[in-house]
Amino acid sequence: MSAPYTSELARTLAPDLLRRFERYVRIDTQAARERTQSPSTPGQLDLGRVLVEELIAAGLGDAALDENGYVTATLPGTAGNGTVVGLIAHMDTSPDAPGTGVEPIVHRDYDGGAIALPRSGTRLDPESIPELAAKVGHDIVTSSGDTLLGADDKAGVAEIVAAVAHLAAHPELPRPTLRISFTPDEEIGEGATLFNIDRFGALCAYTMDGSEIAEFTDETFSAQEMIVSIHGVDVHPGHATGKLVSAARLAADIVAALPSDRLTPDTTSGREGFIHVYSLSGTAATAEIRAIVRDFDEDRLAEHVALLEHTARQVMARAPRATLDIQVHRQYRNMRQYLEPVPFVAEAAEAAITAEGLAPVRVPVRGGTDGSRLSEMGLPTPNIFTGGHEFHSVREWASVHDMASAAATIVRLAEVWTQPEWSRRGAAGQ
Ligand SMILES: [Zn+2]
Repeated sequence: MSAPYTSELARTLAPDLLRRFERYVRIDTQAARERTQSPSTPGQLDLGRVLVEELIAAGLGDAALDENGYVTATLPGTAGNGTVVGLIAHMDTSPDAPGTGVEPIVHRDYDGGAIALPRSGTRLDPESIPELAAKVGHDIVTSSGDTLLGADDKAGVAEIVAAVAHLAAHPELPRPTLRISFTPDEEIGEGATLFNIDRFGALCAYTMDGSEIAEFTDETFSAQEMIVSIHGVDVHPGHATGKLVSAARLAADIVAALPSDRLTPDTTSGREGFIHVYSLSGTAATAEIRAIVRDFDEDRLAEHVALLEHTARQVMARAPRATLDIQVHRQYRNMRQYLEPVPFVAEAAEAAITAEGLAPVRVPVRGGTDGSRLSEMGLPTPNIFTGGHEFHSVREWASVHDMASAAATIVRLAEVWTQPEWSRRGAAGQ
């Protein structure tokens, strides 16, 4: 028997939401790591144009796509209190799994067994995916097995469009002025780069870019990237006695000297940070180690950076004729430090999730969101669940039931922000 929706509202929103989602995921919006312009790939503009058309059709007459690939639109408020709240999702998909030719499959009334994906040997086995095991009776969307699905973050995009279309069609439902933005290139860390906070004009915003139902996030990693470059002394190996200093060997020694039983992505969880060497390349002449360093705590983050630096210098001390250069790039910051002064922003998300009949779960994200950088730039932006799972892989799946709950949560959130308590706190917090 098909599972119930979390509310009548969610059930009402589901068909429209699913139609939009199926349309969006078919458009190839995979971001490219090497970016020479915004957006990094033209497919993101194709989706942007579709979204502008749909938002205008829904009654958001000012919907537009700017030259950098950002979609913005406004749904004027009914509450008349001047509060402006933002809703944000990203249009691009991850470069880490194939993103061309996505053919979504809807598995109606999921029976709790393994789901076989036709275009590859991939099986979604509830034995190893406890979140899936909990979705018996849901309608589940997967890819055909040879691509990612793109629920990250087209689930969020579809939820926002479905929710604002519903609000626009029901002016009797209370809402603040809602500002919508769909961003490009979030997956390559550039979603916030050209985001114009002043023009957006919102008091705060919410990204719809999370995962399991009822979860929301006001805490993310703080992130640095480190590039360790080594120059060796390259000599013909037949005449190298006492002369050759291999940069490739030194780089390998540095990586080998780093902890491997702790401080790595695969040995940490929860609030533990890590040093992740994601690229190692080199020749005898030159070598490069690229690592991302992550932690929730700024002091511990600095310790991890210092550990990699110290390790590199120790190894290099054995090879005085080789040279070392270490660059550290700041990527994004834990949003918590920017959200703590305005606690009512995350509390409004909590209140909306509660209003949808769910028990809200606050989870720190082991990564960053557009909101990490937007919060740092001055727009407090926590993150709300979307109902999608196993992102960045061909196993990616989403529950239509949970996506509908997310869309309904947006409608509830609009109402929360019209309640005198919230709009007053919003005005005072500005
Ligand atoms: Zn995402």
